[in-house]
Amino acid sequence: METPFDNAKPILEKLHIAGFEAYYVGGAVRDHLLNRRIGDVDIATSAKPKDVQNLFEHTIDVGAEHGTIIVLHNKTPYEVTTYRTESEYVDFRRPKEVSYITSLKEDLRRRDFTINAMAMDIDCIILDYFNGKAHLSEKLIQTVGSSSERFTEDALRMLRAVRFVSQLDFTLCPETRLSIKDHVHLLEVISVERKTIEIEKLLKGINHKSALEIILETGMNDYLPGLEMKQDELKKLRTYNLENLKTSEELWTIFTYCIAPRSVQTFLRKWKLPVKLIKAVEKNIEYLTVVNEQSWSDFLLYEAGIERAVTVERIRSIMTDPLNFDANVKRIKNLILELPIQHREQLVITGHDVIQYINKQPGPWVTKAIKEVEKAIISKKIENNKSAIKEWLMRCKLDFEQNY
Ligand code: ATP
Ligand code: MG
Repeated sequence: METPFDNAKPILEKLHIAGFEAYYVGGAVRDHLLNRRIGDVDIATSAKPKDVQNLFEHTIDVGAEHGTIIVLHNKTPYEVTTYRTESEYVDFRRPKEVSYITSLKEDLRRRDFTINAMAMDIDCIILDYFNGKAHLSEKLIQTVGSSSERFTEDALRMLRAVRFVSQLDFTLCPETRLSIKDHVHLLEVISVERKTIEIEKLLKGINHKSALEIILETGMNDYLPGLEMKQDELKKLRTYNLENLKTSEELWTIFTYCIAPRSVQTFLRKWKLPVKLIKAVEKNIEYLTVVNEQSWSDFLLYEAGIERAVTVERIRSIMTDPLNFDANVKRIKNLILELPIQHREQLVITGHDVIQYINKQPGPWVTKAIKEVEKAIISKKIENNKSAIKEWLMRCKLDFEQNY
């Protein structure tokens, strides 16, 4: 079977032929050794960005000043990064300068954790200078070198450590754990965007429970948007089985609902999430709130639509009835499918028809009248056919004239 490495092999070959070193590095090597699904295959090379650009036909300059060029091969993008060290960090996040070097080992030394600091050559031989393999089998997250130094260089690494605890179901080695406690305040200067990526991966991980425990124990939540003083809420989140969630939207919905901020929108904006996602989460939370108070009605199901209703039910089940998760979700799907209509497009009449039947100047009353028709159809008072709707509307005419 073709592996993601096979697909990237021609890139290594081309670099070799041109006289450069090149290896697979980082997360892909780690995941290959763990037999996990491999994400992006990253490549480290002795070739400089200019050499890489000259050598390959399709490249994208995504950060040549940091040594990274994307090479497009068979329509797949590969990050090809020149061996480098990062010297003198400023503000606990940015290397002051990046220097290119000739040694793979030194390039691996700048990486965050031993399990992420291995390389693999074109023949699948692993180069492991920092005990990464041993730590993989011990299921241990340990920084390359002194944790204190590595976290002072780039404070985000603390959050990454906890993210890997969740994703891989690993534990932190004692030095790394203690060091997080000592340096947690440095997270203050890290950009929200970088934190958001890590938190999302953390919550999607298989052991978010341990990760949240570390966050609480180290007080990391005080440096995460909107999570200051939210210990009890995070403890609650720790008890939920999030692996049944399917999308980022569902994840942010349960997260936000559990944190219960005063304003959902302000909270999500703090995380700098896309507007579309914020709007969807706000809507989901509106439904969650109603359903948790008075359970689903036929009209609520219709209004939400099958996708949103299923999303909301998945979340509601995880929080209040996890043992019956599958049955609950199935029940909701069936209830919607049994409704006389599932969405507005199925309605046989339009606003024009309503105006004609009632014979009144157009206005906001039309929308209200249509909603009443929908309610009447959903509650099976009338059928979804033109003559039944017309007759019913005529009967209600007085009502519309007086109240709408
Ligand atoms: P994922 O599977 O989530 O992509 P990953 O380990 O590949 O995990 P990336 O963020 O893609 O993580 O980074 C690729 C590699 O770059 C890492 O494996 C690590 O070697 C190195 N790296 C990434 N971020 C840092 C950092 N902040 N400090 C040091 N090294 C890092
Ligand atoms: Mg990666």
